Amino acid sequence: MATITLPEAEVQNSKSTATKYVYSFGGGHADGNGKMKDVLGGKGAGLAEMTNAGLPVPPGFTIQTEACREYMRGSLSKAVDQQMNDALAQFEALQGQKLGAGENPLLVSVRSGAKFSMPGMMDTILNLGLNDKSVEALAKRSNNPRFAADSYRRLIQMFGNVVLDVEKSAFDEVFEAKKRQKKAKLDTDLDAKALEEVIAEYKKVVKKHAHRDFPQDPREQLVMARDAVFRSWQNDRAKHYRRINNIDDMLGTAVNVQAMVFGNLGETSGTGVGFTRNPATGTKEFYGEFLMNAQGEDVVAGIRTPVHISELEKIMPDVYNQLRDITTRLEKHYRDMQDFEFTIQEGKLYMLQTRNGKRTGLAAVRVAIQMVEEGLISKEEAIFRVEPNQLYDFLVPRLDEKKTKIEVLATGLPASPGAAVGQIVFTADEAVVKAGHGAKKNPVILVRAETTPEDIQGMEVAAGILTSRGGMTSHAAVVTRGMGKCCVAGAGDISVDEKKREMRVKGQTFREGDWISLDGTTGRVIKGQLDTIPPKADDPELLKLMGWAEPFRTMKVRANADIPRDAIQARAFGAEGIGLCRTEHMFFGEKKIGHMRAMILADNEKDRRAALKKLLPLQREDFAGVFKAMDGLPVTIRTLDPPLHEFLPRREELMVDIALLSSYSAKQKKDLLANYKDYGVKAAGDLKRILPGLLARVEQLHEFNPMLGHRGCRLGITYPEITEMQARAIFEAAVDCSKKGIKVFPEVMIPLTATLKEMANQAAIVRRVADEVFKEKGIKVDYLVGTMIELPRAALVADEIAREAEFFSFGTNDLTQTTFGFSRDDVNKVLPTYLAEGILKQDPFAALDQEGVGQLVKIATERGRKTRPTLKVGICGEHGGEPSSVEFCYKVGLNYVSCSPFRVLTARLAAAQAAASDKLKVEGGRTK
Ligand code: ADP
Ligand code: MG
Ligand code: MG
Repeated sequence: MATITLPEAEVQNSKSTATKYVYSFGGGHADGNGKMKDVLGGKGAGLAEMTNAGLPVPPGFTIQTEACREYMRGSLSKAVDQQMNDALAQFEALQGQKLGAGENPLLVSVRSGAKFSMPGMMDTILNLGLNDKSVEALAKRSNNPRFAADSYRRLIQMFGNVVLDVEKSAFDEVFEAKKRQKKAKLDTDLDAKALEEVIAEYKKVVKKHAHRDFPQDPREQLVMARDAVFRSWQNDRAKHYRRINNIDDMLGTAVNVQAMVFGNLGETSGTGVGFTRNPATGTKEFYGEFLMNAQGEDVVAGIRTPVHISELEKIMPDVYNQLRDITTRLEKHYRDMQDFEFTIQEGKLYMLQTRNGKRTGLAAVRVAIQMVEEGLISKEEAIFRVEPNQLYDFLVPRLDEKKTKIEVLATGLPASPGAAVGQIVFTADEAVVKAGHGAKKNPVILVRAETTPEDIQGMEVAAGILTSRGGMTSHAAVVTRGMGKCCVAGAGDISVDEKKREMRVKGQTFREGDWISLDGTTGRVIKGQLDTIPPKADDPELLKLMGWAEPFRTMKVRANADIPRDAIQARAFGAEGIGLCRTEHMFFGEKKIGHMRAMILADNEKDRRAALKKLLPLQREDFAGVFKAMDGLPVTIRTLDPPLHEFLPRREELMVDIALLSSYSAKQKKDLLANYKDYGVKAAGDLKRILPGLLARVEQLHEFNPMLGHRGCRLGITYPEITEMQARAIFEAAVDCSKKGIKVFPEVMIPLTATLKEMANQAAIVRRVADEVFKEKGIKVDYLVGTMIELPRAALVADEIAREAEFFSFGTNDLTQTTFGFSRDDVNKVLPTYLAEGILKQDPFAALDQEGVGQLVKIATERGRKTRPTLKVGICGEHGGEPSSVEFCYKVGLNYVSCSPFRVLTARLAAAQAAASDKLKVEGGRTK
């Protein structure tokens, strides 16, 4: 840190006079430019850049983000007002108009715009400057009283809602009532007189809810609107969006004040939005929607159905060609796909926004490749045009959109990716009935206003879920993402009538049994029964992009897989080994659990060994399967980790059964036999004899805090014969496979060590058994013995542990748990508050806590390698597939990351990007 030599007060003064808070744009010149997103926000930077490029942009000025930060600190400096007044004066001179005054009043929009676009998070105010007087002037000047009244009522509505916090519905009720009264179908059917009545009632709404009048002074309107935009940075929606997208809370938003252009001036005016390429598929086509005689949000609000952009070519060919021309230039200029907004005022085109467009993973990959082929970007840049998490889109089924012309009914939130096609049902029970079983299986889409935990069963059987309410973290969204099931949430244009069993959208009614298709990747709800394309990671374009990225990658990517099927899957996605093969899952198999239970119940070593002997061949078979699947690649197998009581019946259930045994009917007793057959119960009469003994053993094993209890290497140390058996199974399998020509590289991993002696104890067993097996079979295989680092103590004494351990693998789930002292099963009681309060920025179980847990990873790696320079180090927690954590692992020099099979692609790209940005010295130039 540099030393501060000026007294605090002086620093502040000199800063506020020197800071340029307001940047003008207009008349072919802008103070700022497109690179200044930090200062001007994305929107302001885009407006400046377009102005400088000579494009038709309505003029105005941008109040920079520093003003917002000052506002948040409660210290907005006077210079902001001064500079704003100066800019406004200059702006008025340029326009030859006065804000909200005179015969030709200047009207403006007040628009928020942060560095990263936060769609729908903050609201814009249009037509600012209108009041009871200027609305008259506008009517006269435009010779269109209806237009003037429509603009004014919109201002009161937006200002009332955004600035004065009046509920939207209060205005909607007035408007809808007026439409009903006048028998108007569309908003545009209301005439000037009707709109004037609406205005009068809107003013009453403001007075009633905000306890003040709608401000008539245009300057007051402007200052209030500006401050409301600053405040909106802190609203819950905005905070939430920043959290899930990992955007810094301290950035603040800029405010853009811009001359209004009117799309609602009649049939030669209109407004629209578009993309230079298709953001869902990446196809190179002009893509967008517009509405004639409409303003701002009408296109997205869904009150009227917008028209495909291609129609504009027929209505106004010149404007269409100009728009194409401009947007093509913008794309070339920014060297990325653009998302733009435009307005046509009486046949003249204006550009209102341009930015790098958000896109699906599919589109991201395609657009990147196309742009390389078009010579727009280099292959190195292309690597960064795809967010690693987006590759998940390639691993879920997709809609086949090539064959038919599709009709999008509504667009909701892309809550859980993939595609689902099915018949509508409206309740969870119907879903269960209609979905059927086996050969009679029938895909259904569960359509609800929102889901609750009671819907779980229906959600499980449904092919996809559609809700009309709720956000990205609604019940439907969260549950489906966990299930890996397609979900579109919060499709507000759809009204779901659960009583009538109807869904209405776009003037159409859908009933139970009607077919719809969902695209959870883009949030689209599509009419009818589309085909789906199954997931595959062999998409030629994906392979091409990975082919550019992969040469940069230096860190290996492995997968966590317990069974051959998962191992094969992981390998298909490019896994270069197994980083974690958990053996406990193997014991739960039909044939094995009985022997496992017998082993646990044995009260002496001899009986335990007898049970373990029966498990040995079964384990050997499991390991052989995994070795075979990973022929030529390393496989890390972890010795038994969970506490033994997990394999036995629950204590409470046993107590209940014992207490009620005498009152159970013969039938109930018979049912119990199956539950207890592994414990030697053959006939009903055995229950009374055996259950109390079983309970006694369960009591013995009972722990108050099993996660910190008798588990991990502590098991193998207290019951060495378990480790012995597992080591024997591993090496016998390895030797057998090797004899068959399969290349095996077993790595035996001891869990939960904290001390050198624990490691030495278990390593000695493994090495002894290896030697025995090699001697018996007359052949040797290369292997390693290492440990999982999941306790802070292990990280701190890693130099000691590395004397015995030939590799480390960070079990960051447990390491996070033990470092924070958070139980990962209970943390959700605390986490929502912690996130909302900003105490934690992210869930540390999802993204590695680099400051704390990450330090332990770093320390352990350094200390371990000091003792053993060749130490292989990896990570096998959930974090191994999370891009920011992967980048961290690269930075601290890990040899590999290991993650679940479906995240292997993501980890590969994240690891390649980390290395590439290091090598190319570029700051990850990703699209945010
Ligand atoms: P968002 O970030 O939510 O898109 P915007 O500030 O871009 O908000 O504006 C919302 C809508 O209002 C957009 O359709 C935009 O084109 C329109 N709009 C904004 N400013 C003006 C203006 N000066 N003249 C006409 N329309 C405008
Ligand atoms: Mg916009
Ligand atoms: Mg663990």
